[in-house]
Amino acid sequence: MHFERSAPPSSRDAELLTNSWTSLNRTASASYAARWSASLRGKCPGSLRRNGTRKITFAELAALGVMGLTVPEKYGGASRDILGTMVVIEELSRRSLAVAVPYIMAASYAGMNLVECATEDQKRELLARVASGSLMFAYGWTEPNAGADLASVTTRAKRVQDKVRINGTKRFCSGAAIADYIYALVRTGPKDVRYKNLSLILVPPTAVGITITPIESLGMKGAATTDVTVVDVEVPFTNVIGAEAGLEQWLVDGDGLWARCGEAGGRRHGSGHSRRRAEDAWSYALERVQFGKAISNYQSIQHKLAEMKTQLHAARLVLYHAAWLANQHQRCGVETSMAKLFAPEVAKSVALECQTIFGAYGYVKNFDSERDVRGALLLPIIERSWAVQRNNIFKWSKLAAWHGAIDFETERHDAGWIPARRTARSCRAPHRSNHDGSR
Ligand SMILES: Cc1cc2nc3c(=O)[nH]c(=O)nc-3n(C[C@H](O)[C@H](O)[C@H](O)COP(=O)(O)OP(=O)(O)OC[C@H]3O[C@@H](n4cnc5c(N)ncnc54)[C@H](O)[C@@H]3O)c2cc1C
Repeated sequence: MHFERSAPPSSRDAELLTNSWTSLNRTASASYAARWSASLRGKCPGSLRRNGTRKITFAELAALGVMGLTVPEKYGGASRDILGTMVVIEELSRRSLAVAVPYIMAASYAGMNLVECATEDQKRELLARVASGSLMFAYGWTEPNAGADLASVTTRAKRVQDKVRINGTKRFCSGAAIADYIYALVRTGPKDVRYKNLSLILVPPTAVGITITPIESLGMKGAATTDVTVVDVEVPFTNVIGAEAGLEQWLVDGDGLWARCGEAGGRRHGSGHSRRRAEDAWSYALERVQFGKAISNYQSIQHKLAEMKTQLHAARLVLYHAAWLANQHQRCGVETSMAKLFAPEVAKSVALECQTIFGAYGYVKNFDSERDVRGALLLPIIERSWAVQRNNIFKWSKLAAWHGAIDFETERHDAGWIPARRTARSCRAPHRSNHDGSR
């Protein structure tokens, strides 16, 4: 990885993609997002299934080669390039979360997870369709009583000969009504051992026994979120990701069921989303004249713009570093949690700062700023919340070992690093400063 001034760090695909920005921006244009979000607002599940426009968008993205960026060439993709995928997500998010979110679910979450966890047959069948843009996924992890604590999922899947019978409720399942499959996290064994006995199963939302109920939310209306009730739904056993090996798995961030690379995908949209807003605010500050001069002449505005640029630059570096590590198949649990903590914070703070630069136009409906603030407020909540990222960073980095807070025998498997054996007693006490500040 190398860094160029004013450009993303380049991988092969990132460089190629830079040439496609214009097409990508046209595909995810603002008017398109607005039309999309208006057509979905408050509609019943039947109407939500009208998904022609989104399929066309996916086909256009596939023609640009970006749907296959997480898919190895032998399965019809462009390669497995997580950094390149991040760049695409950033670019799509500049215009529309309604385009970026389904892209993330197909290419980033499902694509990467299938590469890591699926059987050879599943890879051959599904990855080619991911790369061609013909498959859309929703993610069914959260439940009424399982938010950040995913190990508590109670949706059960039981094997019945060559089928699996599923019962339970998934909450906040975004895009379920328009997806081809819900990528559902289910319990396939007893729940006595936490983090174990879990599986991922592909559930078609049109299956008999599924009820989808839209949930009105503050933002992200273009990829509407839903409740999904599953009663005695039967799917072929071949829909269990990893088949036999995918039953009763570990739910672990560093390795295992949760493919580590998928973790890096999460927050790119936050960065792209806020970058576009900052660019708009910059242009507005140059144009808007008050007291006889453009407001960009006032130092208070200049400082806001400078701070936003710095924050966005830092967020980009944190994200690219995590993506780069994931690309190298290196452990990256700490770095991806850092990215998931930092980028949403930046997105939220930039959205609010931009809103103040736009003045009243940042607050009223029918201007982008209001929509962007609503979108930015979601980012710290989804993907297991800020607090959980902080917990992960502490637990998986050596901080925990220094404080003797980790029981290595039980935690070693998901630490995202191999700790040297240390105990609290063996840690040195911190140096105490004396009166003149020296040690
Ligand atoms: C618009 C929208 C779309 C969504 N789309 C999807 C989707 O497509 N698929 C999906 O599976 N889910 C989706 N979600 C759900 C989202 O991932 C969850 O909301 C998120 O994981 C947090 O869960 P929760 O809201 O139940 O909060 P809880 O887990 O109940 O947390 C509540 C509060 O407690 C804090 N907290 C929890 N545990 C700890 C801890 N150990 N230490 C410290 N603090 C803690 C949290 O930080 C938070 O402040 C979506 C949510 C929204 C709002």
